[in-house]
Amino acid sequence: MKIYNTLSKTIEDFIPRDENLVKIYTCGPTVYNYAHLGNLRMYIHEDILEKTLEYLGYKVKRVMNITDVGHLESDADEGEDKMLKGAKRENKTVWEIAQYYTDAFFEDIEKLNIKKPEIIARATDYIDDYIEFIQGLTEKGYTYLANGNVYFDITKFEDYTKLSGMDLDNLKVGAREDVEVDIHKKNPQDFVLWFTKSKFDNQAMKWDSPWGEGYPGWHIECSVISLKNLGDQIDIHCGGVDHIPVHHTNEIAQTESYTGKDWVKYWWHGEFLIDNEGKMSKSKGEFLTLSLLEKKGYNPLAYRYFVLNSHYRKQLAFSFDSIASAENAYNKLKSRTKFIKDNAEGTIGENSETYDKFKNDFKQRLSDDLNTANAITVLYEVVKTDSLNNSEKVSLIEDFEKVLSLDLLKDEENDLDEDFLSYIEEMIEKRQGAKKDKNYSLADEIRAELLEKGIMLEDTRQGVNWKKIN
Ligand code: AMP
Ligand code: ZN
Repeated sequence: MKIYNTLSKTIEDFIPRDENLVKIYTCGPTVYNYAHLGNLRMYIHEDILEKTLEYLGYKVKRVMNITDVGHLESDADEGEDKMLKGAKRENKTVWEIAQYYTDAFFEDIEKLNIKKPEIIARATDYIDDYIEFIQGLTEKGYTYLANGNVYFDITKFEDYTKLSGMDLDNLKVGAREDVEVDIHKKNPQDFVLWFTKSKFDNQAMKWDSPWGEGYPGWHIECSVISLKNLGDQIDIHCGGVDHIPVHHTNEIAQTESYTGKDWVKYWWHGEFLIDNEGKMSKSKGEFLTLSLLEKKGYNPLAYRYFVLNSHYRKQLAFSFDSIASAENAYNKLKSRTKFIKDNAEGTIGENSETYDKFKNDFKQRLSDDLNTANAITVLYEVVKTDSLNNSEKVSLIEDFEKVLSLDLLKDEENDLDEDFLSYIEEMIEKRQGAKKDKNYSLADEIRAELLEKGIMLEDTRQGVNWKKIN
């Protein structure tokens, strides 16, 4: 496989450090609000990365953090605390906010058929490890204390700009006009490892530390969670392009200073989803979420289809017109693949040369720096060709679906007959009644009975969902 590496700024052959296991770290969501469609775009492309590697035969171990502490509005330690802001907005505790939006995030990614990474790590579960990490850096002389906070001194790390290629002299790091720059920093790019001098009197999340009660800086969680779960060296680190100049640059500086080793082999960065006002962001207040799309009647998988038709290294413009036409195309595609499935005839192997050629083409497109749009073109060619029988087509579509995950062969709920549908509804109602009466054994019995008939129930915040399983 070939993949673009931000570190070398070229497309490289992908050769993992250990061919038996590819280690991937992914910067996860800051859970102070719903994920917007831009965030979700990133996670869809990362899902494709993981599934492509698996498709090519690699075993993958992927870790994602959940940022539930310490992320200020600006990536460079300035501005308001994001979690606190969410808590104030909704009159809840920061812990409630974190739990609520973590759950909402996992509901969203499930609807988009994004595989949950093998390891999910909450930032607040690693406090002792951050302290140990900062002590290690301090012993090696990389930190200084000023105004109660522990800072990382970037001049002590030789190659601070190796990822961004930026020119430090001309750079005002993260300096936004409306936030003051911390006068206690020796260099403007130095960053906080541990805060004790909080700008927020009502800072709710605080822990004891050798430097006083406080909380970790934002960048530290990704370094430490990665080291703890994946060891000193990894293959791929993912995130959005916005993270190149500050967050990932700081992650490299502290991690490599700590271990004395080269850390990430391939830096993978996804481009932004933009709206007609430019970059989409949660901080703007009004933003586009998956639930909003659903409320407007769109299928989340139409959004996945829309995203897969773009390349992860190109900006993608969102509009309701484009999502509508993507949904249209997706529905047409799905009705054709369903038709093929319902009319499957012939045996697999009758046209093995053509079959192998398509399979190989698909693999090639994905191996070409994850060109999902071209991979989808191969899928269309399979659907259209006269040189394969329907059974062979179904087999190829099933195979491609391991990566694309568009439910192209999945039966719709309304394929079930009316009587069965009303039976399901009846049972759900009965189960809700049983739960209300605290008759949990009856509730469980009903759930098991439905499961036996191929219907799985899911309790969500919005109520009970069900889906057909095979
Ligand atoms: P956050 O929850 O703000 O920490 O962001 C989660 C991920 O979404 C990060 O990898 C960001 O780089 C990425 N991201 C933020 N905004 C956008 C956007 N408009 N389009 C694509 N990705 C984004
Ligand atoms: Zn990160």
